[in-house]
Amino acid sequence: MSGERQVPFYCPYCGEESLRPSGAEAGDWECLACARGFQLRFTAVIRPRPADSHPRIPA
Ligand SMILES: [Zn+2]
Repeated sequence: MSGERQVPFYCPYCGEESLRPSGAEAGDWECLACARGFQLRFTAVIRPRPADSHPRIPA
């Protein structure tokens, strides 16, 4: 998974598209519109559930 860079299209905080890479770490982004910095990070591959009848968060 290393070397794979994910590019956000919209700021997760304000929804603007004025994003640019920030810092040395891949996945660090900053938004020029709301002046927030954030990280975009791959966490896991999820497996699709067989049906949507299950609750979102199992008890
Ligand atoms: Zn923003």
